[in-house]
Amino acid sequence: MIKSPRGTRDLLPPDTALWNFVEATVRDVFRAYNFHEIRTPIFESTELFARGVGEETDIVSKEMFTWEDRGRAESDKGQSLTLRPENTAGIVRAYIEHKLWERGLNKFFSIGPMFRRERPQKGRYRQFYQIDAEVIGPAAAGSQSPARDAEILELLATLLDRVGITGWTLELNSVGCPEDRAKFNEALRLALAPVVGKMCADCQRRAVTNPLRVFDCKVPEDQPIIETLPTISQFLDESCRAHYEEVKNILNAVGVPYVENQRLVRGLDYYTRTAFEFTHGGLGAQNAILGGGRYDGLSEALGGPAAPGIGFAIGEDRLVLSLMETASAESVVRKPDVYIAPLGAGMNRHAARLARELRRHELAANVVIELGDEAFRLKKSFEAADKMGARYILIVGENEVAADAFALKHLASGEQVTVPRGELAQRILRT
Ligand code: AMP
Repeated sequence: MIKSPRGTRDLLPPDTALWNFVEATVRDVFRAYNFHEIRTPIFESTELFARGVGEETDIVSKEMFTWEDRGRAESDKGQSLTLRPENTAGIVRAYIEHKLWERGLNKFFSIGPMFRRERPQKGRYRQFYQIDAEVIGPAAAGSQSPARDAEILELLATLLDRVGITGWTLELNSVGCPEDRAKFNEALRLALAPVVGKMCADCQRRAVTNPLRVFDCKVPEDQPIIETLPTISQFLDESCRAHYEEVKNILNAVGVPYVENQRLVRGLDYYTRTAFEFTHGGLGAQNAILGGGRYDGLSEALGGPAAPGIGFAIGEDRLVLSLMETASAESVVRKPDVYIAPLGAGMNRHAARLARELRRHELAANVVIELGDEAFRLKKSFEAADKMGARYILIVGENEVAADAFALKHLASGEQVTVPRGELAQRILRT
């Protein structure tokens, strides 16, 4: 038997109903905040991620699915391509490539699969889905303002509430500007020098190449050492400090709760100032539902104009996992309103006509109709209707067709009536 590749999975019904519910709700929320959808390719040139995410990050150094294109055309040959491990870099690339600032567009969202070669476990997959949003634009459009950060965080709180996630925690930090980070990195290097020998191999490497990344370490034995290291807050300059204070002031004013986490630096190199995660208790070790932050220098790092930005990526798999603790997928699946049961030879065509009339009826906006088959005996049709949870069964037999009135049975109560064709829609679709 051929199975799906390691770390990938099939999303099956009824769970897909929950995924669709999440995506529909999320789209409604984005619409209310004037965000517009963008769809970028699922693979990009490798260089985009090397530059946009950072060579030193775990994502780029260990986790990307990369291949060399073998196309026939000279221009394709030898080009290194990568399945996108995240989508901020892709969206910023598109923003630059299409000069989206000229069209006055600056709030984008996208929903789609991402790929990372990680060790699979609950809540961690090699193909997973993210809901991304980015606010990016020229400084003149206010895109560097702390008001944008606060609005993004308030949007997220609303989005999680609307989807039905309860008990989330917003963890907030500021990672400062590149100059603050340079000073902080130096202080970390000094603080790590005497202790790094006792830490994991990854941390030993990070201590040399990029000490900030030590905070990404998940090795339990290293945590007591990490606890003693200096924190970024001691190194923020005046403007970064003021920016951070204003983000918190607005959050307080709108009533979005948060906790400050000075160890939160996040895995990507391009973050500046605000960094955040939303966590949820029910997820176990992989407890981050989403993460994000500000990336004021990214557009320039990718060859674009100065365009401060802030964004987030929700792990949709984890969002759905959290949701499953309180809501069953069954509860959002729409069951058939009516199961149409043709009874006997030649009845399929009459049943098909009735189904078409009902499905196209002006009252039929949300209706679900299932069509049986004339080869089924009545008992089998009843069993099928029952199994799929249909509300009504509609019998289409020779006598019914002759009378142009049909037996309609309400399955839960067992009540059965004969309804003329012209009244069927009223009867089934209105109730
Ligand atoms: P990141 O892009 O690493 O900041 O991740 C943003 C969010 O995506 C995380 O908070 C997770 O919810 C989700 N995520 C990241 N990696 C994975 C993965 N391998 N499997 C499932 N979800 C993931």
